[in-house]
Amino acid sequence: MPTPTELSVVIPMYNEEEALPALAERLRPALDELGVTYEVVAVDDGSHDETPQHLLAMRRTWPQLRVIRLRRNAGHQAALTAGLHRSVGAYVVSIDADLQDPPEKIADMLRLARDENLDIVYGVRSDRTTDSFFKRTTAGIYYAIMQKLVGSWMPRHAGDFRLLRRPVVDALKALPERQPVYRMLVPSLGFASGEVTYVREERVAGKTKYPIGKMVRLAIDSITNFSAAPLRLATYLGAIAFFVCLVLLGFGLVVWLAGSTVPGWMSLFLAVLLLGGVQLVCLGLLGEYVGRIYATVQHRPTYFVGYDSSTPAPAGDDLD
Ligand code: UDP
Ligand code: MG
Repeated sequence: MPTPTELSVVIPMYNEEEALPALAERLRPALDELGVTYEVVAVDDGSHDETPQHLLAMRRTWPQLRVIRLRRNAGHQAALTAGLHRSVGAYVVSIDADLQDPPEKIADMLRLARDENLDIVYGVRSDRTTDSFFKRTTAGIYYAIMQKLVGSWMPRHAGDFRLLRRPVVDALKALPERQPVYRMLVPSLGFASGEVTYVREERVAGKTKYPIGKMVRLAIDSITNFSAAPLRLATYLGAIAFFVCLVLLGFGLVVWLAGSTVPGWMSLFLAVLLLGGVQLVCLGLLGEYVGRIYATVQHRPTYFVGYDSSTPAPAGDDLD
């Protein structure tokens, strides 16, 4: 019988060829020192650079490294899903490929989980001074809104560096989520959790793979995943517009009774534009939710695995 794997380390990576050598150099000793059986699940999220080739080369000297290649760029959270679903360890740590999350902290997470019998240990960023001002500000707003919307059970500044015990991974796998946002989904399950704080380091090499578009997508997914509050916004906006209309009607009536008329096509024009804008925003909000329902009923996979080094390569696979 093969020894069961105690720890899986899941690393989603997209165009990370520049970060890979430094990652291996720091991650491998950190894991070897733990004295547990482990696997590193590197999920190549459809990279266009040499990431898959580098990974396969690294695998020759690092047998614990497992390579999963997604056929298309599915996004960070979907890549994480692929890694979580295919990991086998009793504990699963997810970590970024750019060394912004220190691998040495995995030892602390594992210790805390074992000593205090915890199911989840969050890596909480105590210091983000190495992140750009823009990133810090947007992250601050993001966590503040999320906590307001979903409740205080969501730990602040806990990103995707965390440790999960197998029962949590199984619970996540059982969920029918199409666009999961793990930093919200994981705490919502209610498992016993603890925290390990760490200082967010600078990206070791390359550029961020989270451009503004992907950040906005994550924020929209986070909100629509957990709250229908934006739908209520439409009702409120409609009520406000109706109220303003009533006030203006009263005003117009008074002016008319006084034997005059309210001048100006500009006010009319602005009112029409404003209402048109409000209506389109509300329609867009509605569309977001309808889109989620659509994705759910379509039941398509959110990622496509082209290659997994732990299973025999399909015929014609030219990667290994
Ligand atoms: N990532 C991914 N798919 C994507 C975008 C990002 O797998 O479409 C990975 C990326 O390689 C990294 C992690 O997600 O390991 C976090 O991304 P990044 O460090 O660029 O985000 P930031 O730290 O700037 O928020
Ligand atoms: Mg990063």
